[in-house]
Amino acid sequence: MQDVQQVLSRLSHSPFRSRIQLRRKELDYLRSKGMNEVLKHAAEFIEKRLAPASPVNDGKQTPWHNHPVFVAQHATATCCRGCLQKWHQIPKGRILTVEEQQYIVELIGSWLSRQAKVAAEKKTDSRK
Ligand SMILES: [Zn+2]
Repeated sequence: MQDVQQVLSRLSHSPFRSRIQLRRKELDYLRSKGMNEVLKHAAEFIEKRLAPASPVNDGKQTPWHNHPVFVAQHATATCCRGCLQKWHQIPKGRILTVEEQQYIVELIGSWLSRQAKVAAEKKTDSRK
């Protein structure tokens, strides 16, 4: 398994991935539910939509909006098995291990924390 912080820094060099951000609605959702609850959803999404050897609609199973975890999955290249293979060297065609699922949830959590932090800083700035 790769190092979460190293992977996040590699992703930040991708013009496509680094442009992805949470919108107001998703940030509000994250704030009102709290990180623990949202990461529980993440674990459920990963288990159902990504962990099977051949996920349903693989490549199109992750919506772009409305849940902060979906947005985070695109930003961290954990949206489908193709991206997992390309960015995280996790091969397609087999069930994800528990450790791999935890790694993905950790990546999502780190990305969401950064987004929340950036949003909080922006808010403070606009009050000046
Ligand atoms: Zn993908």
